[in-house]
Amino acid sequence: MSNPRIGVLALQGDVREHLAALNAVGADSVPVRRHAELDAVDALLIPGGESTTMSHLLRELELIEPLRARLAGGMPAYGSCAGMILLASEIIDAGAQGRAAVPLSGIDMTVRRNAFGRQVDSFEGDVDFAGLDGPVHAVFIRAPWVERIGPGVEVLAQAAGHPVAVRQEAVLATSFHPEVTGDRRIHRLFVDIVTEKA
Ligand code: GLN
Repeated sequence: MSNPRIGVLALQGDVREHLAALNAVGADSVPVRRHAELDAVDALLIPGGESTTMSHLLRELELIEPLRARLAGGMPAYGSCAGMILLASEIIDAGAQGRAAVPLSGIDMTVRRNAFGRQVDSFEGDVDFAGLDGPVHAVFIRAPWVERIGPGVEVLAQAAGHPVAVRQEAVLATSFHPEVTGDRRIHRLFVDIVTEKA
């Protein structure tokens, strides 16, 4: 198979770092801002950022229904932090009405925004990650956690007693930001999922 074409939703966040990380592990990565660009990719990465702002931009760009349709159709996806929130089927503390974060239902799960508390906005630590050799150094920035998972959802990593990395079929989500460390194992796992090697 030739390199998979993986889009990075390019509304906000570490778009450039994710594009570079995906290219480093054998994908052809492209920024996605429009419906036609979404149609042209095999899979999509949704970076961190602010899920309410990203939802507002998704509404403006009329991308919510196209994204839901691709996810419902089995498009592989990976969401980090705000991206995890958007991939949820239900969001707790989603934000003020009219400006709330929008659940795209890539994974049957309930996610709590800003879950780790307001005093500790950001922290890092090593977490064990199922299937990977050795712990992952995880950087959490105003991160969500998972409060409920549906039957088909696998927990890959936990922190503070909650899932912080999950997978359902070809959709992966982490509360933390792998693009800010040099460790490319999460991006490689995603590419392996897209190419059906994992
Ligand atoms: N707290 C942010 C949100 O609600 C997520 C933070 C992040 O992506 N680093 O979207």
